[in-house]
Amino acid sequence: LIISMPYDGFSYRNHAHDIDISFGKAGRHKCSYRLIVGDENLGEITLSRRRKFQDRETAAMEHLLVGLVCPLRNALTYLSAVRAAQKDPLTGINNRAAMDSSLAREIEMARRHRMPLSLIVMDLDKFKTINDTYGHATGDEIIKTFTKVVNGIIRKTDMLFRYGGEEFVVIMSNTGRDGSMLLAERIRRGIEKLEVLLPQARIPVTVSLGVASLNGKEDGKSLFERADQALYQAKTSGRNCVCLGDPAGTYA
Ligand code: GH3
Ligand code: MG
Ligand code: MG
Repeated sequence: LIISMPYDGFSYRNHAHDIDISFGKAGRHKCSYRLIVGDENLGEITLSRRRKFQDRETAAMEHLLVGLVCPLRNALTYLSAVRAAQKDPLTGINNRAAMDSSLAREIEMARRHRMPLSLIVMDLDKFKTINDTYGHATGDEIIKTFTKVVNGIIRKTDMLFRYGGEEFVVIMSNTGRDGSMLLAERIRRGIEKLEVLLPQARIPVTVSLGVASLNGKEDGKSLFERADQALYQAKTSGRNCVCLGDPAGTYA
């Protein structure tokens, strides 16, 4: 029995889990295994090399794969659980736990590469009234529609999170004050002109937004607090508007 098999290239693909790993140099000869347990597809492992694979080598490989299946299934289950802990179940977007780790990472990157970084904190206006008027289920639909609209407005490099109930955060890497104010205003307008259509009514929805850009040596907590303070200002200035965090003052 051969317990190792020399190969030039290796790849593991699992579409359902969004995994695509490969290393080495792909060769002309390939042997591929689709790993299926019951009705569960665990993905596909491919080995390749310049030299042809011998029967006894592939037989040994198959022997090894049998022992891999269970640990691989456990690892995939664990991965799903870890990923689920970062997602908001209602909207499918990243949640507050994901935001905390992303913000820390983005701040470190911004410092290292001397790039700007901005944050938008936003909160749907008078949402309690919307729930009371149209029902909680409709409120949920509006939250889902809101995330879709915002995701359509922001760039690929911007990250949207559901921070809590009807409160959301956008992290914008490599974006300074002016760029983030423009984006916040575009979101505000996009939501304002969106009237959620229901058989019985057109529901007007608006959002208030606070913006802050990373400065000096502040940490994520301080950046968030400045954006949140600006959001509070937007709420007290009449809602459906964008405010810029200290020290720059109010903006339209
Ligand atoms: P403001 O303009 O000051 O933000 O007013 P508001 O009514 O939006 O603020 P408040 O914090 O008083 O109420 C937030 C409401 O959002 C109350 C809560 O029931 C609702 N809400 C939070 N999460 C959800 C959710 O997942 N689904 C629904 N339908 N409603 C939610
Ligand atoms: Mg609100
Ligand atoms: Mg709120």
